[in-house]
Amino acid sequence: FASKQPNIGTTIFTKMSALATEEGALNLSQGFPGFDCDPVLQDLLAHYSKGHNQYAPMAGIPELRNSIAEKTKLVYDVNLSPISEITVVSGATEALFAAIHCCVHPGDEVIMFDPSYDAYDPIVRLAGGVPIHLTLKTENGFRIDFEELARAITPKTRAIYVNTPHNPTGAIWEMEDLNSLAEILKGTAILLVSDEVYEHIVFDGKQHASVLLHPELRKRSFVCGSFGKTYHITGWKMGYCLAPEYLTAEFRKLHQWVTFSSATPLQWALTDMLKMPKYWQELSSFYQQKRDLFAKALKGSKFRLLPSQGSFFQCVDYSEISQEFDQDLAVRLTKEIKVASIPISVFYEQPPEQRILRFCFAKTDDVLIEAANRLSKL
Ligand code: PMP
Ligand code: GLN
Repeated sequence: FASKQPNIGTTIFTKMSALATEEGALNLSQGFPGFDCDPVLQDLLAHYSKGHNQYAPMAGIPELRNSIAEKTKLVYDVNLSPISEITVVSGATEALFAAIHCCVHPGDEVIMFDPSYDAYDPIVRLAGGVPIHLTLKTENGFRIDFEELARAITPKTRAIYVNTPHNPTGAIWEMEDLNSLAEILKGTAILLVSDEVYEHIVFDGKQHASVLLHPELRKRSFVCGSFGKTYHITGWKMGYCLAPEYLTAEFRKLHQWVTFSSATPLQWALTDMLKMPKYWQELSSFYQQKRDLFAKALKGSKFRLLPSQGSFFQCVDYSEISQEFDQDLAVRLTKEIKVASIPISVFYEQPPEQRILRFCFAKTDDVLIEAANRLSKL
């Protein structure tokens, strides 16, 4: 069959998780928790599975949109209208897709920073847009080079992807980064697609620099969020898009023809869950402990750990162990020592000469320790 699609291949997450299963390996590749969600959420779902089983309104049930608005007020001190600025979707992936597709014309350029989450480039190309890849410097801690960004902007630039905390590196933006970005965007009509799915996983006492906190940026942003990361429910595929009214109107036109609306009982359960701040407030320290446990267990190994400031990913440099291409090493380690990881070269248009793997530490402590023990023998 002659595919009509641009060359978009199969995602690395499908490949590595399938290999991990086939090999019976510890799966630290695809980013998902190796433990269950809180029983409180399970009970809420059981409760709402009675009597809430028909279509939800297209934009999401008003109760959930209200809960999201209240949470946004509490966390960022920002008032959003549940009526015109909040849309519930089936995972942040849908939000990313609809945000790009509702604003990118064929030939428009969309800037992303490599290593970039693997959905960004194909979503732009499926919309007929042109992905523009800028490469973050590993030795610079994957910080944005705003001068380079300013030089990359052309009359065709339609949007820029922001992603903090960053997948795959765990780098985060600071408030000053938002200011630098705002300075560059002044006087342009460039939009932002801000992927903030790890907003509640930020370490070492740092604060998440949401574009919502910057009034000039907020006016031009689609903020894509996911309940999957915050409540250990990646399989629910539930998320949301926060955007000003003029963007939300366009976003919803797309959303209605992609999924129309998202699962009703899940929306009700999340409505109640969002009213209990402790779940998102405790998340950073929960994952910081896991990050530190994994790092400690790798201490005697030949891996060099790169800083992880947020998300649930730890990148490691393995150049003291091997000079193999990371995609080969990730497969070999899955087969030989039964530990699966993600090779970060897949997140680049032009991978630099470097030797880095990404491990997901959203796993039980015994799995993290066992994986680190196996890796330390290399
Ligand atoms: N963006 C990033 C950076 C992610 O890591 C993920 C996946 N985990 C997503 C978007 C997709 O989120 P969801 O599973 O809610 O579609
Ligand atoms: N976001 C997850 C990761 O980075 C994977 C999501 C997916 O499999 N699509 O590992």
